[in-house]
Amino acid sequence: MQVYFDSDADPALIRTKRIAILGYGNQGRPQALNLRDSGVEQLRVALREGSSSAGDVRADGLDVMTPAEAAAWADIMVMLFPDEEQGQVYREALAPNLRQGAALIFAHGLAIRFALIEPRDDLDVFLVAPKGPGTALREEYLKGSGLISLFAIHQDATGSARPLALSYGSAIGSGRVGMLETSFAEECEADLFNEQAVLWGAIPELIQAGFDTLVEAGFSPEVAYLECLTEVKLIADLIYARGIAGMREAISNTAEFGALKGGERIVTADTRTEMRRILRDVRNGSFVKDLLSDAENGYALLKASRARASAHPIEQARARLERLKDRP
Ligand code: NDP
Ligand code: MG
Ligand code: MG
Repeated sequence: MQVYFDSDADPALIRTKRIAILGYGNQGRPQALNLRDSGVEQLRVALREGSSSAGDVRADGLDVMTPAEAAAWADIMVMLFPDEEQGQVYREALAPNLRQGAALIFAHGLAIRFALIEPRDDLDVFLVAPKGPGTALREEYLKGSGLISLFAIHQDATGSARPLALSYGSAIGSGRVGMLETSFAEECEADLFNEQAVLWGAIPELIQAGFDTLVEAGFSPEVAYLECLTEVKLIADLIYARGIAGMREAISNTAEFGALKGGERIVTADTRTEMRRILRDVRNGSFVKDLLSDAENGYALLKASRARASAHPIEQARARLERLKDRP
């Protein structure tokens, strides 16, 4: 896999451009602030009318425009608002107003991979996807480091999509640690798969199931919480720092022997078969179809699942343990 660094990018290129960040949430704010600190002067933020983010933008000293105004003004439009909204905003506000030869940048490949957006032929369309949350993107940048980004070119109408993508990735800090070239499809499918099969789907479910098993058997919720949840952070740090093989060396023989016994009983051949089914449902578009229809229904499923998570007894155990921290 080809990896690019600051030395492969022209940092001056992005500074000559007018950049509009559309959305000022998890990714929008950190990317905007990193760009500004990297010397981008012509920087605006686009938000819909009445947006709850406008105060944050002004507090950071940036100007707010509507998406349509921003499209008419910008050389580069960065799509940093929810994926499932991107099709409609593109059709209504961007497609009719974007300047000839402008660039559209995505932080995730979904809208292009699943054709929520079919971009105009004259546009440069590319992806710069930081591999981690916006908070980390900003923190690492401020420390002089960065987050690895994937990047991909979907459409190169002007012939400068590639240098622009590298210059942008460098300005948000990713050129310090590596920019890996991929495709929209690979980035998007792997990301959607991982969200369900490993990260946000499987790990929390595993934590709750472990907690429930202990509590059901009469263990105290506090002990169950500390074992099944608190230690997840410690193991994640260990795996991040040393890899899975290295992690095994750093834990007790007892824990290591337990891992050998337990891991394969939980992640069985059936689990792996189910993972392949998740990947299939990502690739054939049925997951994205469900996502869009839930958005249309006012996020009924998403809201119900948030309510279930809040009602789970693990949250009460958490609250009790958190209160210990407040003791004098
Ligand atoms: P957020 O949910 O944080 O975006 C919220 C922002 O978008 C708010 O400012 C909100 O303002 C604005 N917004 C919402 N809907 C619209 C709309 N219809 N028109 C204009 N503005 C709107 O998004 P994320 O930062 O989490 O995700 C942005 C992109 O980055 C996605 O493509 C995502 O996949 C990708 N990504 C996200 C990561 C993350 O850290 N979360 C990591 C890597 C990639 P308001 O609602 O007040 O109008
Ligand atoms: Mg994602
Ligand atoms: Mg233990």
